[in-house]
Amino acid sequence: AVRVRFAPSPTGFFHIGSARTALFNWLYARHTGGTFVLRIEDTDSARNTPEALAALLEGMRWMGLDWDEGPEAGGDVGPYFQSQRTAIYAEYLQKLIDNGRAYEQDGAIFFKLLGERYTEFDKYKNAELEKVRTEPVTVHDAIRGDVTRAVETDFVLRRSNGDYGFHFVNVVDDIAMNITHVIRGEDHLSNTARHVEIYRALGAEPPVFAHIPLILKVDGKGKMSKRDEGSLIEEYVKRHFIPEAVRNFLCLLGWNPKDGQEIMPIAEIIERFDFDGVQKEGARFDEKKLSHINTEYLRALPVETFCWMAGPILAEAGVIDESTGEDYLHAVLAISQEKARDFEGLSELVRYFFTEDFTIDSGARERVFKKGEPMARLAELVPALEQLDSWLDSDIDHAILGLAEKKGQRKFDYFPIARLAVSGQAGGPDLLALLRVLGKERVIARMRGFAE
Ligand code: GLU
Repeated sequence: AVRVRFAPSPTGFFHIGSARTALFNWLYARHTGGTFVLRIEDTDSARNTPEALAALLEGMRWMGLDWDEGPEAGGDVGPYFQSQRTAIYAEYLQKLIDNGRAYEQDGAIFFKLLGERYTEFDKYKNAELEKVRTEPVTVHDAIRGDVTRAVETDFVLRRSNGDYGFHFVNVVDDIAMNITHVIRGEDHLSNTARHVEIYRALGAEPPVFAHIPLILKVDGKGKMSKRDEGSLIEEYVKRHFIPEAVRNFLCLLGWNPKDGQEIMPIAEIIERFDFDGVQKEGARFDEKKLSHINTEYLRALPVETFCWMAGPILAEAGVIDESTGEDYLHAVLAISQEKARDFEGLSELVRYFFTEDFTIDSGARERVFKKGEPMARLAELVPALEQLDSWLDSDIDHAILGLAEKKGQRKFDYFPIARLAVSGQAGGPDLLALLRVLGKERVIARMRGFAE
């Protein structure tokens, strides 16, 4: 059975590259009905704080990436923190010492390559370096095909201070945790030959490797780094992106279903995800595409969910408070959802529903006053609406239509000024729905109070 792992070193942030690696492992586990292991590579004790771990687990949960084994979940091959596995490392290290594949030098323990040894002058280190002529290692990568590399120098397994080296613990854990597929970033490709050397020296079968492409900046020039905007999952949480949308977007960073379809329910992505859909070349981060996907998800939310998600965001922005009526809020959101682009901009979109202190957009005003006699139309509109007893969209529509006929105008001569007077905007929800939701009293008062 497939066993994959996500093996982050917590840094306090959930970088988009890490999130994508976690996601691809998760997708592969769910696609194959395998097991998704979360292993914390926390050997660097200075950087690995409880806060850093919490940030990581929170990010995973936000993205909906549940792990079958690991912190909190437990499992048969734990502990799942490298900092708690030193006894296991000591045991494996002893195996290498016993079979002559590890040796001590200056208090540190090195992996011993097999092959002819020679010294070479290293320009960079400005010193003689011992090198080894080894048999090159060919790794069959599930995405990149055969990759052949030679390891030329012995490398550290345990430093003189007792800390174990990354290559060693990474491989030992993958063996001890029965990992069948190592799915990780292309930046680790250069480590793989070393890893295979360790597997062989321990008499273990290497897993299938699948190195997924780097995430590139939008201009394609270089790798996305922590400093680039959009590179941290925390930003998306703060900006109220929809987690399922971010996840869908990340699925497409390096993978695509061959028919070019992009927006898909996760169940469908799980079904279709496989290594042959993963590209070799770097995947460009395209924030516009993310925004587009996020908008699509937002508009597709059941209205109840949309309201439930919007409430706290509007409260936080001070647009609504405890005195806001629930039915009114629901009605406002129900007619605004199809116009909303994201939760980040929602407050501005609906603010005028909840305050008389809204501004009249100057561009909108200019457009409305460019033609016709909007103030005259508005003056006619007020009494026509005032006499209505019933305030449904159709009642309002009827009244405006009747008025237009009587005055020899068109219905749409009344619409722009009506909208401007009650909302200060040129666009927004359907006008009749907008008037209905605002309510007769507010509409009349705002129209009366509107001055050119
Ligand atoms: N801790 C390593 C990293 O975060 C794990 C690499 C691997 O997946 O093998 O890059």
